[in-house]
Amino acid sequence: MKPAPRHSHDSNPAAAVRDGALAAELATLVPLGEVISEGGRLRDACSDATESRGLRGATAALVLPGSAAEVAAVMAWCYERDVPIFTRGGGTGLAGGAVPDGGIVLSLEGMHAIRAVDPGQWRMEAEAGVRTARVQRVARENGLLFPPDPGAGEQSTLGGNIATNAGGPHAFKYGVTGSWVTGLEVVLPPGDVVTIGGPVRKDVAGFDLLHLMTGSEGTLGVITAAWLRLVPAPEAQTIVVGFYDDVESGCSAVADVMGSGLQPAVLEYLDAGALAASIGSFPFAAPGDPAFAVIAEVDGSAAEVEAAATEVVAAMSAAAVGDALRLSGRRDARSLWGWRDGVSIAVNAQRGGKVSEDIVVPVDRLADAIRGTLAIGERHGLPACSWGHAGDGNIHASFLIEPGNGDELARAERAAGETFDLAIELGGSISGEHGIGSLKTGWVEPALGPALVRAQGEIKRTFDPKLLLNPGKKVPIAGPRDAGATESGPGGGRAGVR
Ligand SMILES: Cc1cc2nc3c(=O)[nH]c(=O)nc-3n(C[C@H](O)[C@H](O)[C@H](O)COP(=O)(O)OP(=O)(O)OC[C@H]3O[C@@H](n4cnc5c(N)ncnc54)[C@H](O)[C@@H]3O)c2cc1C
Repeated sequence: MKPAPRHSHDSNPAAAVRDGALAAELATLVPLGEVISEGGRLRDACSDATESRGLRGATAALVLPGSAAEVAAVMAWCYERDVPIFTRGGGTGLAGGAVPDGGIVLSLEGMHAIRAVDPGQWRMEAEAGVRTARVQRVARENGLLFPPDPGAGEQSTLGGNIATNAGGPHAFKYGVTGSWVTGLEVVLPPGDVVTIGGPVRKDVAGFDLLHLMTGSEGTLGVITAAWLRLVPAPEAQTIVVGFYDDVESGCSAVADVMGSGLQPAVLEYLDAGALAASIGSFPFAAPGDPAFAVIAEVDGSAAEVEAAATEVVAAMSAAAVGDALRLSGRRDARSLWGWRDGVSIAVNAQRGGKVSEDIVVPVDRLADAIRGTLAIGERHGLPACSWGHAGDGNIHASFLIEPGNGDELARAERAAGETFDLAIELGGSISGEHGIGSLKTGWVEPALGPALVRAQGEIKRTFDPKLLLNPGKKVPIAGPRDAGATESGPGGGRAGVR
């Protein structure tokens, strides 16, 4: 679509959007959608799940297109006028990726159609604004499984999951979101709707742009729809929970399960602090004061699950306090996962706030990362704990703070920064699944080195030469908005202040 003619407010487009004139012009570009330039919905679009860490932005308008063509028209309009675009899904991100800094917020919320489900071909085509839990439910209703299960599934969107390459417990066996995407419909600057891949199970034509777009956090293009690969839903699942006296015996149970040659679907852990916060609502019998817990789930045919569960119970019982607990049936599974989903909230409730980071380390360094997190908390005078995806070496390192206590927040941000140093030192990475957003850009260069940061910057400029898509996110790159900043300067991220 041809961009709308330039408006007289071009010298300061964002201010002009605020005065209502360009908001009305934007509205003509999205007849199937809407444009909001004031009130509670606009305010809600200025933060994500990092708000408790003090992250809140500002924007001139919330634009909700109703089709890919409308997204393209809005992008063309913005590209013509140098207006930054902050793309938003469900706003559950934990890195500040959807928090705007001026410009407009482009929300995919209104694009929530499931375009096709083909159970015989194990595939689905869905728009970016469909909630994650709905994708899972529709797959289930058709006898299939969409395995990615990030924790805020009722709120997060498929587009947000793809843009962050989200994980979750079942990523251990099934891989992260990107493993399940075979095609994307994307709007690229300056406003072209393109299809990358599609309903195909293999495609090596050209460079692998599908995986480049996956995890790009709204900085290269706007995802409007995806083709998903599904698998037949497993017939049965069983969960096994083991409790341990210390980090070492818990981590040795993780190693024993992995060394057994079995492939559990899930291998999770909670350390002493995470357990102390949540054990009160654990729905089954548990020892008095456990210092560590490991949760495994096996799935497959009923016979496979029976055999695997016996072996997993044996592996997890060797170093456990008593025998590992074997749960059975869907009701037990629902209770256990309902409890596990509440762990983050329970930890938060300890002091009213927390700063959490999701570093990832080689699995054989898991115990070092867990102990290292506690030592960092102690150095900064903050209670600390962690839990996470043990089988992936992905730990949610958390520092507990009082809301409104600026000194504690500053110490917790410094502690979070030290967990990134720890991850790098242990041969890991600064984010396993939550992404870089604006919080971690200051750590991208220490993590990747200058040559890779340069390469990433060149990729960004190739797709988005005006640097208008989610500026200040994901890649530390100096643009026109922050002239004078260094390529990787700590100004790029709050946690970048060491
Ligand atoms: C309680 C809780 C539990 C969580 N558990 C997990 C977990 O287990 N695993 C995990 O990986 N994450 C987890 N998260 C983090 C979060 O849910 C994921 O990062 C999720 O994928 C974000 O999706 P969203 O739709 O909310 O995206 P948003 O927060 O709206 O956006 C996230 C990023 O994606 C970009 N984006 C969004 N939609 C699009 C699009 N259509 N096109 C291009 N870019 C887009 C945004 O610009 C932003 O950079 C959790 C969060 C919470 C609050």
